Amino acid sequence: MSEDQNNLNHSTIPEFLTDILPPEERILKRPVAIIECFQEIPCNPCVDSCPQNAISIDEGINRIPQIDYDLCTGCTLCVPKCPGLAIFVVGVDKEDKTKGSVTIPYEFNDLPQIGEEVIGLNRQGKPVTPAVVKKVIVSKITDKTAVITLSLPSEFIHEVRFFKRQSSK
Ligand code: SF4
Ligand code: SF4
Repeated sequence: MSEDQNNLNHSTIPEFLTDILPPEERILKRPVAIIECFQEIPCNPCVDSCPQNAISIDEGINRIPQIDYDLCTGCTLCVPKCPGLAIFVVGVDKEDKTKGSVTIPYEFNDLPQIGEEVIGLNRQGKPVTPAVVKKVIVSKITDKTAVITLSLPSEFIHEVRFFKRQSSK
């Protein structure tokens, strides 16, 4: 295992993700989208949302999407386009590999502020780690879904999938 890999603790990868994750070397290069869509449903806006043509669905619309991690730039444009809120973008800081980021879709009206300290939650809604809001994107392109990027310890980039504001009960 390389030194870089040692710096990125993957002890928190859920088992169901292990087959779809990009190689660790790829994650360390630049942010990358992770598509957590495992149900074969008639849906494909993710495919059209990607300017790099990195997302594809083989053999009919009912198949689950695939992503070409080499083509993905981590731009986050696909994140708000998924009606299932199943697309996330994860990244690791090149200068300090203990620092990571997770970009998530957010459909609530109470948008957090950049720099706000929040609590990163896992897929079950349980608190995992403190996090800081790094970026908030709301635009015509994102419709009613905002795109929020959190800064957090890199060991949690595959675990945190939502957040709780400190002010919320
Ligand atoms: S993050 Fe950007 S480049 Fe990557 S799959 Fe999504 S839209 Fe395509
Ligand atoms: S848009 Fe979302 S739910 Fe629909 S196929 Fe793509 S990833 Fe799955």
